Amino acid sequence: MDNCIFCKIASKQIPSTIVYEDDELLAFKDINPAAPVHLLVIPKIHLDTLSSALPEHHVMLGKMLGLAPQLAVEHGCGPVRQADGQYTGGYKTLINTGADGGQEVYHLHMHVIGGPKLWRGQS
Ligand code: 5GP
Ligand code: ZN
Repeated sequence: MDNCIFCKIASKQIPSTIVYEDDELLAFKDINPAAPVHLLVIPKIHLDTLSSALPEHHVMLGKMLGLAPQLAVEHGCGPVRQADGQYTGGYKTLINTGADGGQEVYHLHMHVIGGPKLWRGQS
């Protein structure tokens, strides 16, 4: 789609630090990270919001979610279950949707946010 920054990233018209790519999906580092690890996972096709996804997109949405644990491990986020049963590490997955959902870029994307808990929004 014209003038969509994430479409331009997907087509490599705009550079990004790509951390994963396949036929359907691209993952890259957020330009303004909110945490030590802040990745964005996008479909290569343009969908403006999660709410624009149709049943035919559900497998792709599942792939996006399923990619998060792989990316988290690759970037050292864990989580890791300790011998005492407690978990260390971890990450957030987040899809902002629409104005009230805090969406700024209208190309569907999932944030994967992790690393040491020094960042905003910790809870
Ligand atoms: P939203 O608020 O729409 O969920 O998040 C949009 C995210 O895209 C923000 O975290 C912002 O930093 C990131 N972003 C915006 N423009 C660019 C860009 O040109 N390159 C990269 N890598 N990230 C971007
Ligand atoms: Zn787009």
